[in-house]
Amino acid sequence: MALEAVIGLECHIQVATRTKMFCGCPAEFGAAPNSNVCPVCLGLPGALPVANRAAVDAALRLGLALGCEIREESVFARKNYFYPDMPKNYQITQYDRPMCEGGALPVALAAGSRGFPLIRIHVEEDTGKSFHPERHGDRRISRVDFNRAGVPLLELVTQPAFRDPAECAAFLTALRRLVRWLGISDGEMEKGHLRCDANVSLRPAGQSELGTKTEIKNLNSIRGVERGVTAEIARQNLARLSGERIEQATLLYDADHDRLAVMRSKEHAHDYRYFPEPDLPRLRVEAAWRDEARAALPELPWTRAARLEREYAVPAYDAQVLGERRELCDYFEDCARGADGKLASNWIMTEVLRMTNERGWSIDDWARRVPPDRLREFLARVSARDIPGPLAKQVFTWLADEEGGVAELLDRHRVRVQASRDDLLPLVREVLNQNPGPVAQYRGGKIATLGFLVGQVMKKSAGQAVPQVVQDLLKAELGGQRPPS
Ligand SMILES: [Zn+2]
Repeated sequence: MALEAVIGLECHIQVATRTKMFCGCPAEFGAAPNSNVCPVCLGLPGALPVANRAAVDAALRLGLALGCEIREESVFARKNYFYPDMPKNYQITQYDRPMCEGGALPVALAAGSRGFPLIRIHVEEDTGKSFHPERHGDRRISRVDFNRAGVPLLELVTQPAFRDPAECAAFLTALRRLVRWLGISDGEMEKGHLRCDANVSLRPAGQSELGTKTEIKNLNSIRGVERGVTAEIARQNLARLSGERIEQATLLYDADHDRLAVMRSKEHAHDYRYFPEPDLPRLRVEAAWRDEARAALPELPWTRAARLEREYAVPAYDAQVLGERRELCDYFEDCARGADGKLASNWIMTEVLRMTNERGWSIDDWARRVPPDRLREFLARVSARDIPGPLAKQVFTWLADEEGGVAELLDRHRVRVQASRDDLLPLVREVLNQNPGPVAQYRGGKIATLGFLVGQVMKKSAGQAVPQVVQDLLKAELGGQRPPS
């Protein structure tokens, strides 16, 4: 009997706000341990939380971008649990009345784009961070840093809509792009700013009822999610084959050893004794706030990628690469307007991305050095075959490192592009005289030899000749007669 995997994801997005979710402590990363704390996030008696409007606004924007229904009045709840790194011993989250419900994230897959449906998005606070065990003389100790306790999180829960690990990876890639696009989070998984748990179960193909699921925690990279889910599907398959029952459990994935370990048998929702948070009023998102946020949403990445394909005639692949970051899209559009879209996309996808990567520049750094009008001038000259191919890459590097337009750069480096018949004819004749063999071959009908002869002229010109002109001159000199076909 063929089994199919059913996977659902729970993603935690750390919101890049200035302050924490329920107090005014800085939410920054990397401060000295336990320096960003106060009575509220340390859970001291009598301290009262106040919700952070910027974090709620981030949830609102994410919910609107994903087409969720936004609840006008949602409710904060206490999730009771002993967290060594959460001094209140409960987490403020949302339970039965979350802020956003429904919606879907469109994801580009090899077979085309597909929307993966969501169950909900809610607002909550993060826990602190434990470090254990550490050696301290001959003792092993654990330490807790409460700087992260109370930092705003958005929890996004998908429907069990994934059938294989690659879909999960594509979903996370698209989610990371979206939260960056909206300015909600940097989405860095290695910093823990985007975290993911996966629920995995198997069932006979075609059955609609779900099998017993396990939850994998601690997936801290996209590759880790793919590998962890793959390992769990294999484990469940094997267990079933040997007639074992799958137990509901929480597993930890150890990426270094590609191994799963049972952390605890799975708790149920009622174990947390959720109840409405008595210290906070209901969370109200009025229609005016919602409408304003909707109107202020930028063009979303999937809409924009489709438009790039349409308006600039670039292939879907290019639109995906360029659409990875908003500032890259902006730069591309500024350069491609009124230019050859595919040519602009080629140079940006290969050379701009390569150089920014090598030099550790952001796209904004690049755009300051090479503003769109400079790149446009360059592209126009490449397009008009004013700059021969081999020279173009060199000129491109000068553009990044120096000031001035293309003509100025060529002058400064004493490069004279040889595009005129008078410049090139002597070189062409010299090459023809020195290569009687290939000339005879060409005349004998071996057309490919022309490429060799063009190459020889290019060499003699130190890459400064325009190949199209050289080719025309060679053909004329070789008698103009077309070789017999
Ligand atoms: Zn605080």
